[in-house]
Amino acid sequence: MRNQEMLLIPGPTPVVDSIYDAIAKETWSHTDPRFAQIYKDSIAKTRDMLKTDGEVIVFAASGTLGMEMALINTVKPGEKVLVVSQGYFGDRFIGIGKAYGIEIDVIQSEWGQQVSPEVVEEKLASGNYKAVTVTHADTSTGVKADLDALVPVIKKHGALVIVDGICATAAMEEDMSKTYGDPSYKLDIVLTGSQKAIGVPPGLAIVAFNQSALDVRKEIEHVPGYYTDIYNWLPIMHDPTKYFATPAVNLVYAYDEGMRIVLEEGMKNRYARHDKFAEGVRKGLKEYGMKPLAAKGAEASTLSCVLYPEGVDDAAFRKNLSEKGIVVAGALAHLKGKAFRIGHMGNTTKEMLEKAVEEIGKTLNDLGQDVDPKQAVASFNSVF
Ligand SMILES: *Cc1c(COP(=O)(O)O)cnc(C)c1O
Repeated sequence: MRNQEMLLIPGPTPVVDSIYDAIAKETWSHTDPRFAQIYKDSIAKTRDMLKTDGEVIVFAASGTLGMEMALINTVKPGEKVLVVSQGYFGDRFIGIGKAYGIEIDVIQSEWGQQVSPEVVEEKLASGNYKAVTVTHADTSTGVKADLDALVPVIKKHGALVIVDGICATAAMEEDMSKTYGDPSYKLDIVLTGSQKAIGVPPGLAIVAFNQSALDVRKEIEHVPGYYTDIYNWLPIMHDPTKYFATPAVNLVYAYDEGMRIVLEEGMKNRYARHDKFAEGVRKGLKEYGMKPLAAKGAEASTLSCVLYPEGVDDAAFRKNLSEKGIVVAGALAHLKGKAFRIGHMGNTTKEMLEKAVEEIGKTLNDLGQDVDPKQAVASFNSVF
Protein backbone atom coordinates (compact mmCIF):
# COMPACT_ATOMS: atom_id res chain seq x y z
CA MET A 1 0.00 0.00 0.00
CA ARG A 2 1.11 3.53 -0.73
CA ASN A 3 -0.22 4.70 2.61
CA GLN A 4 2.38 5.97 5.05
CA GLU A 5 0.05 5.75 8.02
CA MET A 6 -2.49 3.25 9.23
CA LEU A 7 -5.79 5.08 9.35
CA LEU A 8 -7.69 3.06 11.93
CA ILE A 9 -10.38 5.59 12.72
CA PRO A 10 -14.03 4.70 12.07
CA GLY A 11 -13.82 6.27 8.64
CA PRO A 12 -12.28 7.29 6.40
CA THR A 13 -10.57 3.90 6.29
CA PRO A 14 -7.43 2.65 4.49
CA VAL A 15 -7.53 3.11 0.73
CA VAL A 16 -5.76 0.51 -1.41
CA ASP A 17 -3.51 1.30 -4.39
CA SER A 18 -5.95 0.16 -7.07
CA ILE A 19 -8.48 2.67 -5.73
CA TYR A 20 -5.87 5.45 -5.72
CA ASP A 21 -5.03 4.45 -9.31
CA ALA A 22 -8.68 4.72 -10.24
CA ILE A 23 -9.12 8.15 -8.70
CA ALA A 24 -5.99 9.43 -10.47
CA LYS A 25 -7.28 8.54 -13.93
CA GLU A 26 -8.00 11.28 -16.43
CA THR A 27 -11.18 13.18 -15.69
CA TRP A 28 -13.65 12.56 -18.49
CA SER A 29 -16.77 14.53 -19.19
CA HIS A 30 -19.53 13.66 -16.74
CA THR A 31 -21.77 12.75 -19.68
CA ASP A 32 -19.13 10.87 -21.70
CA PRO A 33 -20.54 7.43 -22.57
CA ARG A 34 -17.33 5.84 -21.26
CA PHE A 35 -17.83 7.48 -17.88
CA ALA A 36 -21.55 6.72 -17.97
CA GLN A 37 -20.72 3.05 -18.36
CA ILE A 38 -18.47 3.09 -15.28
CA TYR A 39 -21.15 4.92 -13.28
CA LYS A 40 -23.76 2.38 -14.40
CA ASP A 41 -21.46 -0.51 -13.56
CA SER A 42 -20.86 0.87 -10.08
CA ILE A 43 -24.61 1.17 -9.51
CA ALA A 44 -25.15 -2.39 -10.75
CA LYS A 45 -22.47 -3.61 -8.36
CA THR A 46 -24.13 -1.74 -5.49
CA ARG A 47 -27.42 -3.44 -6.33
CA ASP A 48 -25.63 -6.80 -6.21
CA MET A 49 -24.05 -5.98 -2.87
CA LEU A 50 -27.39 -5.03 -1.28
CA LYS A 51 -29.45 -7.51 -3.34
CA THR A 52 -32.08 -4.90 -3.99
CA ASP A 53 -34.75 -4.96 -6.69
CA GLY A 54 -35.47 -1.28 -6.11
CA GLU A 55 -33.35 1.74 -6.95
CA VAL A 56 -29.85 2.77 -5.93
CA ILE A 57 -28.66 6.37 -5.95
CA VAL A 58 -24.94 7.14 -5.82
CA PHE A 59 -24.26 10.86 -5.58
CA ALA A 60 -21.67 13.39 -4.44
CA ALA A 61 -22.30 13.96 -0.72
CA SER A 62 -21.18 12.78 2.67
CA GLY A 63 -23.25 10.15 4.39
CA THR A 64 -25.31 12.71 6.25
CA LEU A 65 -26.93 13.95 3.06
CA GLY A 66 -27.80 10.32 2.31
CA MET A 67 -29.64 10.22 5.66
CA GLU A 68 -31.47 13.37 4.65
CA MET A 69 -32.36 11.96 1.24
CA ALA A 70 -33.75 8.79 2.81
CA LEU A 71 -35.92 10.69 5.24
CA ILE A 72 -37.39 13.47 3.13
CA ASN A 73 -38.27 11.22 0.20
CA THR A 74 -40.44 9.03 2.41
CA VAL A 75 -41.72 11.21 5.24
CA LYS A 76 -43.67 14.44 4.82
CA PRO A 77 -43.47 17.40 7.18
CA GLY A 78 -45.86 16.76 10.06
CA GLU A 79 -45.63 12.98 9.78
CA LYS A 80 -44.04 10.95 12.54
CA VAL A 81 -40.73 9.14 12.65
CA LEU A 82 -39.35 7.01 15.45
CA VAL A 83 -35.60 7.32 15.87
CA VAL A 84 -33.98 4.25 17.42
CA SER A 85 -30.71 5.63 18.69
CA GLN A 86 -27.74 3.84 20.16
CA GLY A 87 -25.46 6.85 20.18
CA TYR A 88 -24.39 10.11 18.58
CA PHE A 89 -25.11 9.10 14.99
CA GLY A 90 -28.52 7.69 15.77
CA ASP A 91 -29.37 11.07 17.27
CA ARG A 92 -28.38 12.77 14.01
CA PHE A 93 -31.75 11.80 12.54
CA ILE A 94 -33.43 13.98 15.17
CA GLY A 95 -31.84 17.14 13.80
CA ILE A 96 -32.48 16.17 10.21
CA GLY A 97 -36.13 15.42 10.89
CA LYS A 98 -36.63 18.64 12.80
CA ALA A 99 -35.02 20.68 10.03
CA TYR A 100 -37.81 19.46 7.74
CA GLY A 101 -40.72 19.76 10.14
CA ILE A 102 -40.98 16.02 10.64
CA GLU A 103 -42.32 14.98 14.02
CA ILE A 104 -39.62 13.01 15.80
CA ASP A 105 -39.88 10.63 18.72
CA VAL A 106 -36.70 9.04 20.04
CA ILE A 107 -35.77 5.94 21.93
CA GLN A 108 -32.23 6.35 23.21
CA SER A 109 -30.35 3.50 24.78
CA GLU A 110 -27.78 4.09 27.44
CA TRP A 111 -24.46 4.39 25.58
CA GLY A 112 -23.05 0.90 25.16
CA GLN A 113 -26.44 -0.81 25.27
CA GLN A 114 -28.87 -1.80 22.54
CA VAL A 115 -32.40 -0.51 22.33
CA SER A 116 -34.68 -3.42 23.19
CA PRO A 117 -37.27 -4.51 20.63
CA GLU A 118 -39.92 -4.55 23.37
CA VAL A 119 -39.50 -0.83 23.99
CA VAL A 120 -39.72 -0.17 20.24
CA GLU A 121 -42.83 -2.32 20.02
CA GLU A 122 -44.49 -0.42 22.84
CA LYS A 123 -43.71 2.94 21.27
CA LEU A 124 -44.90 1.89 17.82
CA ALA A 125 -48.16 0.62 19.25
CA SER A 126 -48.79 4.06 20.75
CA GLY A 127 -48.61 6.11 17.59
CA ASN A 128 -48.85 6.28 13.87
CA TYR A 129 -45.25 6.19 12.66
CA LYS A 130 -44.39 6.52 9.00
CA ALA A 131 -40.83 5.27 9.40
CA VAL A 132 -38.29 4.10 11.94
CA THR A 133 -34.61 4.94 11.62
CA VAL A 134 -32.08 2.40 12.82
CA THR A 135 -28.34 2.97 12.91
CA HIS A 136 -26.84 -0.40 12.06
CA ALA A 137 -23.53 0.30 13.79
CA ASP A 138 -23.31 3.47 15.84
CA THR A 139 -19.83 4.85 15.31
CA SER A 140 -19.82 6.68 18.63
CA THR A 141 -20.44 3.62 20.80
CA GLY A 142 -19.50 0.61 18.68
CA VAL A 143 -22.99 -0.78 19.32
CA LYS A 144 -24.83 -2.63 16.58
CA ALA A 145 -28.57 -2.74 16.17
CA ASP A 146 -30.22 -6.15 16.29
CA LEU A 147 -31.93 -6.00 12.90
CA ASP A 148 -33.29 -9.55 13.22
CA ALA A 149 -35.22 -8.50 16.30
CA LEU A 150 -36.15 -4.94 15.30
CA VAL A 151 -37.27 -5.32 11.68
CA PRO A 152 -40.23 -7.68 12.36
CA VAL A 153 -41.48 -5.36 15.11
CA ILE A 154 -41.24 -2.27 12.89
CA LYS A 155 -42.81 -3.91 9.85
CA LYS A 156 -45.64 -5.39 11.92
CA HIS A 157 -46.64 -1.79 12.67
CA GLY A 158 -46.49 -0.82 9.01
CA ALA A 159 -43.58 1.61 9.23
CA LEU A 160 -40.70 1.85 6.80
CA VAL A 161 -37.32 0.58 8.01
CA ILE A 162 -34.59 3.11 7.26
CA VAL A 163 -31.15 1.69 8.01
CA ASP A 164 -28.16 3.97 8.43
CA GLY A 165 -25.43 1.63 7.25
CA ILE A 166 -22.73 4.29 7.08
CA CYS A 167 -20.45 2.27 9.36
CA ALA A 168 -21.78 -1.17 8.43
CA THR A 169 -22.65 -1.58 4.74
CA ALA A 170 -20.27 -4.02 3.00
CA ALA A 171 -19.14 -5.44 6.36
CA MET A 172 -22.28 -6.37 8.32
CA GLU A 173 -25.27 -8.15 6.82
CA GLU A 174 -27.59 -5.82 4.92
CA ASP A 175 -29.46 -7.95 2.45
CA MET A 176 -32.47 -6.14 1.02
CA SER A 177 -33.88 -9.40 -0.38
CA LYS A 178 -33.87 -11.01 3.07
CA THR A 179 -37.26 -11.46 4.71
CA TYR A 180 -37.58 -11.02 8.45
CA GLY A 181 -40.25 -13.48 9.49
CA ASP A 182 -42.85 -12.54 6.86
CA PRO A 183 -42.39 -12.35 3.07
CA SER A 184 -43.14 -8.61 3.16
CA TYR A 185 -40.85 -7.75 6.08
CA LYS A 186 -37.68 -6.33 4.53
CA LEU A 187 -35.23 -3.46 4.90
CA ASP A 188 -36.86 -0.61 2.96
CA ILE A 189 -33.97 1.82 2.73
CA VAL A 190 -30.27 1.27 3.29
CA LEU A 191 -27.94 4.22 3.05
CA THR A 192 -24.21 4.52 3.38
CA GLY A 193 -21.12 6.53 2.56
CA SER A 194 -18.08 5.66 0.48
CA GLN A 195 -15.48 6.13 3.21
CA LYS A 196 -16.23 3.54 5.84
CA ALA A 197 -16.59 -0.21 5.33
CA ILE A 198 -16.49 0.23 1.55
CA GLY A 199 -12.99 1.70 1.80
CA VAL A 200 -13.19 4.45 -0.83
CA PRO A 201 -12.22 8.06 -0.01
CA PRO A 202 -15.01 10.26 1.39
CA GLY A 203 -17.34 12.08 -0.96
CA LEU A 204 -20.08 9.74 -2.14
CA ALA A 205 -23.36 8.85 -0.49
CA ILE A 206 -25.26 5.75 -1.52
CA VAL A 207 -28.98 5.31 -0.87
CA ALA A 208 -30.98 2.23 -1.83
CA PHE A 209 -34.80 2.27 -1.89
CA ASN A 210 -36.89 -0.87 -2.20
CA GLN A 211 -40.23 -0.95 -4.01
CA SER A 212 -42.25 -0.11 -0.88
CA ALA A 213 -40.10 2.95 -0.22
CA LEU A 214 -40.46 4.02 -3.86
CA ASP A 215 -44.23 3.62 -3.61
CA VAL A 216 -44.20 5.92 -0.60
CA ARG A 217 -42.11 8.46 -2.53
CA LYS A 218 -44.76 8.40 -5.27
CA GLU A 219 -47.38 9.64 -2.82
CA ILE A 220 -45.30 12.68 -1.90
CA GLU A 221 -46.06 15.53 -4.22
CA HIS A 222 -43.49 17.95 -2.96
CA VAL A 223 -40.18 16.86 -1.48
CA PRO A 224 -38.65 19.76 0.47
CA GLY A 225 -35.30 19.33 -1.24
CA TYR A 226 -33.94 19.73 -4.75
CA TYR A 227 -30.53 18.10 -4.79
CA THR A 228 -31.94 15.38 -2.53
CA ASP A 229 -35.18 14.68 -4.43
CA ILE A 230 -34.68 11.21 -5.82
CA TYR A 231 -36.87 12.05 -8.80
CA ASN A 232 -34.09 14.34 -9.97
CA TRP A 233 -31.55 11.51 -9.70
CA LEU A 234 -33.39 8.43 -10.93
CA PRO A 235 -33.20 9.38 -14.63
CA ILE A 236 -29.43 9.85 -14.20
CA MET A 237 -29.03 6.51 -12.44
CA HIS A 238 -30.80 4.85 -15.37
CA ASP A 239 -28.84 6.76 -17.98
CA PRO A 240 -25.78 8.63 -16.70
CA THR A 241 -25.20 10.33 -20.06
CA LYS A 242 -28.03 12.64 -18.94
CA TYR A 243 -27.34 15.61 -16.68
CA PHE A 244 -28.81 16.72 -13.39
CA ALA A 245 -25.87 17.86 -11.26
CA THR A 246 -22.23 17.11 -12.02
CA PRO A 247 -21.25 13.78 -10.49
CA ALA A 248 -17.87 13.39 -8.74
CA VAL A 249 -16.33 11.74 -11.80
CA ASN A 250 -13.05 10.57 -10.27
CA LEU A 251 -14.71 9.39 -7.08
CA VAL A 252 -17.07 7.31 -9.18
CA TYR A 253 -14.05 5.64 -10.82
CA ALA A 254 -12.77 4.90 -7.33
CA TYR A 255 -16.15 3.71 -6.10
CA ASP A 256 -16.50 1.30 -9.00
CA GLU A 257 -13.13 -0.20 -8.11
CA GLY A 258 -14.10 -0.31 -4.43
CA MET A 259 -17.28 -2.17 -5.33
CA ARG A 260 -15.32 -4.57 -7.53
CA ILE A 261 -13.14 -5.41 -4.53
CA VAL A 262 -16.19 -5.85 -2.28
CA LEU A 263 -17.94 -8.25 -4.68
CA GLU A 264 -14.75 -10.13 -5.47
CA GLU A 265 -14.34 -10.97 -1.79
CA GLY A 266 -18.04 -11.81 -1.53
CA MET A 267 -20.50 -10.68 1.11
CA LYS A 268 -20.44 -13.82 3.27
CA ASN A 269 -16.65 -13.70 3.38
CA ARG A 270 -16.67 -10.03 4.24
CA TYR A 271 -19.14 -10.48 7.08
CA ALA A 272 -17.05 -13.35 8.47
CA ARG A 273 -13.79 -11.43 8.08
CA HIS A 274 -15.14 -8.41 9.94
CA ASP A 275 -16.47 -10.63 12.73
CA LYS A 276 -13.00 -12.13 13.12
CA PHE A 277 -11.26 -8.77 13.01
CA ALA A 278 -13.52 -7.42 15.74
CA GLU A 279 -13.11 -10.48 17.90
CA GLY A 280 -9.35 -10.46 17.49
CA VAL A 281 -8.95 -6.76 18.29
CA ARG A 282 -11.16 -7.04 21.36
CA LYS A 283 -9.28 -10.13 22.58
CA GLY A 284 -5.92 -8.51 22.01
CA LEU A 285 -6.82 -5.24 23.74
CA LYS A 286 -8.35 -7.11 26.67
CA GLU A 287 -4.81 -8.15 27.61
CA TYR A 288 -4.16 -4.47 28.28
CA GLY A 289 -7.17 -4.13 30.53
CA MET A 290 -9.09 -2.39 27.75
CA LYS A 291 -12.78 -3.20 27.48
CA PRO A 292 -15.26 -2.36 24.75
CA LEU A 293 -18.01 0.06 25.74
CA ALA A 294 -20.54 -2.09 23.89
CA ALA A 295 -22.31 -4.72 25.96
CA LYS A 296 -21.55 -8.34 25.23
CA GLY A 297 -23.31 -9.46 22.09
CA ALA A 298 -24.00 -5.85 21.03
CA GLU A 299 -20.53 -5.15 19.61
CA ALA A 300 -20.35 -3.94 16.02
CA SER A 301 -17.84 -5.78 13.86
CA THR A 302 -16.61 -2.65 12.08
CA LEU A 303 -15.28 -0.61 14.99
CA SER A 304 -14.73 -0.74 18.72
CA CYS A 305 -15.12 2.02 21.27
CA VAL A 306 -12.59 0.99 23.88
CA LEU A 307 -12.46 2.23 27.47
CA TYR A 308 -9.02 3.17 28.76
CA PRO A 309 -7.64 1.40 31.78
CA GLU A 310 -7.02 3.52 34.85
CA GLY A 311 -4.34 6.16 34.46
CA VAL A 312 -4.07 6.48 30.66
CA ASP A 313 -4.27 10.00 29.26
CA ASP A 314 -6.24 10.07 26.00
CA ALA A 315 -4.29 12.85 24.28
CA ALA A 316 -0.89 11.41 25.24
CA PHE A 317 -1.97 7.92 24.15
CA ARG A 318 -3.21 8.97 20.74
CA LYS A 319 -0.22 11.26 20.11
CA ASN A 320 2.27 8.53 21.00
CA LEU A 321 0.41 6.00 18.86
CA SER A 322 0.23 8.36 15.90
CA GLU A 323 3.99 8.84 16.12
CA LYS A 324 4.16 5.08 15.57
CA GLY A 325 2.11 5.59 12.40
CA ILE A 326 -1.24 4.44 13.73
CA VAL A 327 -4.17 6.81 13.85
CA VAL A 328 -7.16 6.04 16.07
CA ALA A 329 -10.00 8.38 17.02
CA GLY A 330 -11.03 9.92 20.32
CA ALA A 331 -14.41 9.23 21.82
CA LEU A 332 -17.40 11.56 21.53
CA ALA A 333 -19.58 13.51 23.97
CA HIS A 334 -19.40 12.39 27.61
CA LEU A 335 -16.88 9.66 26.73
CA LYS A 336 -14.31 12.16 25.52
CA GLY A 337 -11.00 11.34 27.23
CA LYS A 338 -12.34 8.10 28.67
CA ALA A 339 -12.24 5.94 25.56
CA PHE A 340 -10.87 5.76 22.04
CA ARG A 341 -12.35 4.35 18.86
CA ILE A 342 -10.57 1.98 16.54
CA GLY A 343 -11.91 1.00 13.13
CA HIS A 344 -11.33 -2.53 11.81
CA MET A 345 -13.19 -2.45 8.56
CA GLY A 346 -13.05 -2.15 4.79
CA ASN A 347 -9.63 -2.69 3.27
CA THR A 348 -7.99 -3.11 6.66
CA THR A 349 -5.99 -6.34 6.86
CA LYS A 350 -5.22 -8.84 9.61
CA GLU A 351 -1.56 -7.82 9.42
CA MET A 352 -2.45 -4.18 10.00
CA LEU A 353 -4.59 -4.99 13.02
CA GLU A 354 -1.96 -7.31 14.46
CA LYS A 355 0.54 -4.49 14.17
CA ALA A 356 -1.93 -2.04 15.73
CA VAL A 357 -2.52 -4.32 18.74
CA GLU A 358 1.24 -4.59 19.22
CA GLU A 359 1.90 -0.86 18.89
CA ILE A 360 -0.94 0.01 21.25
CA GLY A 361 0.83 -2.14 23.84
CA LYS A 362 4.15 -0.39 23.18
CA THR A 363 2.44 2.95 23.54
CA LEU A 364 1.01 1.87 26.88
CA ASN A 365 4.53 0.77 27.89
CA ASP A 366 5.82 4.22 26.89
CA LEU A 367 3.14 5.75 29.11
CA GLY A 368 4.29 3.66 32.06
CA GLN A 369 1.74 0.84 31.92
CA ASP A 370 3.01 -2.64 32.65
CA VAL A 371 1.45 -4.60 29.77
CA ASP A 372 2.74 -7.30 27.44
CA PRO A 373 2.30 -6.58 23.71
CA LYS A 374 3.48 -10.09 22.77
CA GLN A 375 0.75 -11.67 24.84
CA ALA A 376 -1.83 -9.37 23.27
CA VAL A 377 -0.66 -10.24 19.76
CA ALA A 378 -0.95 -13.93 20.65
CA SER A 379 -4.51 -13.37 21.88
CA PHE A 380 -5.33 -11.43 18.72
CA ASN A 381 -4.01 -14.28 16.59
CA SER A 382 -5.81 -16.94 18.58
CA VAL A 383 -9.10 -16.18 16.83
CA PHE A 384 -7.78 -16.77 13.33
C1 LIG B 1 -19.87 8.52 9.79
C2 LIG B 1 -21.29 8.28 10.09
C3 LIG B 1 -22.28 9.21 9.78
C4 LIG B 1 -21.96 10.53 9.17
O1 LIG B 1 -21.46 10.35 7.89
P1 LIG B 1 -20.73 11.56 7.12
O2 LIG B 1 -20.17 10.89 5.91
O3 LIG B 1 -19.67 12.05 8.05
O4 LIG B 1 -21.74 12.58 6.81
C5 LIG B 1 -23.58 8.88 10.06
N1 LIG B 1 -23.92 7.71 10.60
C6 LIG B 1 -22.98 6.78 10.93
C7 LIG B 1 -23.40 5.50 11.54
C8 LIG B 1 -21.64 7.04 10.69
O5 LIG B 1 -20.72 6.13 10.99
